Amino acid sequence: MADTKKKLPRKALPPDARIETLAVREGLPATPWGENSEALFLTSSFVHPDAATAAARFANEEEAFVYSRFTNPTTMMFERRLAALEGTEAAIATASGMSAILLMIMGLLKAGDHVICSRSVFGATIVLFEREFGKFGVETTFVSQTDVAEWRAAVRPNTRLLFAETPSNPMTEVCDIAQLAEIAHATEALLAVDNCFCTPALQQPVKLGADLVIHSGTKYLDGQGRVLAGAVCGSDKLINGTFMPVMRGAGMSLSPFNAWVVLKGLETLSIRMAAQSANALKLAQWLSAQPGVDQVYYPGLPSHPQHALAMKQQNGCGGAVVSFTVKAGQGSDAQALRKAAFHVIDQTRLCSITANLGDTKTLITHPGSTSHGRLSEDQRLAAGITQGMIRVSVGLEHIDDLTADLARGLHTLNN
Ligand SMILES: *Cc1c(COP(=O)(O)O)cnc(C)c1O
Repeated sequence: MADTKKKLPRKALPPDARIETLAVREGLPATPWGENSEALFLTSSFVHPDAATAAARFANEEEAFVYSRFTNPTTMMFERRLAALEGTEAAIATASGMSAILLMIMGLLKAGDHVICSRSVFGATIVLFEREFGKFGVETTFVSQTDVAEWRAAVRPNTRLLFAETPSNPMTEVCDIAQLAEIAHATEALLAVDNCFCTPALQQPVKLGADLVIHSGTKYLDGQGRVLAGAVCGSDKLINGTFMPVMRGAGMSLSPFNAWVVLKGLETLSIRMAAQSANALKLAQWLSAQPGVDQVYYPGLPSHPQHALAMKQQNGCGGAVVSFTVKAGQGSDAQALRKAAFHVIDQTRLCSITANLGDTKTLITHPGSTSHGRLSEDQRLAAGITQGMIRVSVGLEHIDDLTADLARGLHTLNN
């Protein structure tokens, strides 16, 4: 197998280069043409000089790019750069965030294995574990996002994976990565963390003890809502030894074009995350002072139940997603709450009404009828998601324009 993931030449970078430097510099050396911006290798296959060389490359006697399902220079630059930011030995790029989780499950688990997963992870992740892999004999126990004792109690002799996402969507609940790593490593399990909401700019799960980091590159890594992308980051042994063979066989590959877009997105990741988090904190503080607002959910607020843990784990940053609930007057039922939330959303003119997140544009959504619309009302309420809840993925617009946009609806609620 052409194991081109580790031996191809590296760029000469200072060994102690910081994350901001790695984000713009890590990759492969330039081609002989000397391009400054990373090249986009939009090619499905690579040409060999003669038949004997092709044979040697297919026999893994010589390293080279062969076929873009498993190796492409642009995709590799994205993988190397993301791995450098996460502080892992390697990364493997996938077509989407969901296919990163799919690749991880296919590589790690077999029938009879058991998974412990937070109940508060991305909805499609729950479906993938429970319904799709349930069919193949992998059983998943869903536990509380924040109650470590529940995770510990769920461990069985056949537990092989703990899966968490922090902060959670849309409640922004934070789980303790170091404690979950301890539980995983006390048995024969690995801990994987979906780092979509924080990105390595704010949180590096591997430094807290996680074994694998999952990304939906679709969100903050691209950062401008253009392409779908995903990745799994981890040790060289897991990425190249365990996941590469699955990628070759299953082909959930990232297209070189999308890899190039996300690669360039990484260059501005740190400054975007800092600016969007700063905007989000100001918005959360402003929302907390509005009479039409009931509760604000944001890890950067001292009132957040896991504020101290979030600050420790997330580089002192709350991230860029803020959720809040609106009031609908005395004795308000689900119907009235939904009407009030819809009113606030519909009165915005700047915010984009879309359930995506991680864009430079501010995005607004009603989780109770979109991302979590297929749950029953009881399931939603158990997760804390009422019909009065609104989630905002805060972008780069001026904070005063954003508060004015939300004030229009909040100040005209019929309370
Ligand atoms: C969006 C998202 C995913 C799925 O990513 P896609 O790129 O849409 O497949 C997984 N986890 C989290 C936390 C997400 O927000």
